[in-house]
Amino acid sequence: MFDKALIEAAHKACENSHAPYSKASRGAAVLDSDGRIYSGCTVELANYSGTVHAEQVAIASAIASGAKKLVRLALYPADYPCGICRQFMREFNPEFVVVYQQDGEIRTVTMDELYPNVFGRENLQLPPTL
Ligand code: ZN
Repeated sequence: MFDKALIEAAHKACENSHAPYSKASRGAAVLDSDGRIYSGCTVELANYSGTVHAEQVAIASAIASGAKKLVRLALYPADYPCGICRQFMREFNPEFVVVYQQDGEIRTVTMDELYPNVFGRENLQLPPTL
């Protein structure tokens, strides 16, 4: 039910991309466990290294808005997140599900499928309070 709205939000966000150099406009939208949707778009800088990907913007928007558990993410146009974004997503939920539309059908892929054997917080020697 949320997947179609999520894809539509990603599409709408894509229209606001700032991608004058690569022309690779992307939109993303994330769903939290309370059913709220947050969106983001590609924001490029001339030096490229400061570019922020749509997934990162959407997740940061959700975190800034107080979202506690992010559960699904859609990208527009349909694509898989890059490695940096996979790491970014995994930070907030190792069980994130990516939603995309292909050949008119809504499909999903899990973080385990996208990013197996990942480095995460469990690899750090953190005290239990962090
Ligand atoms: Zn990315």
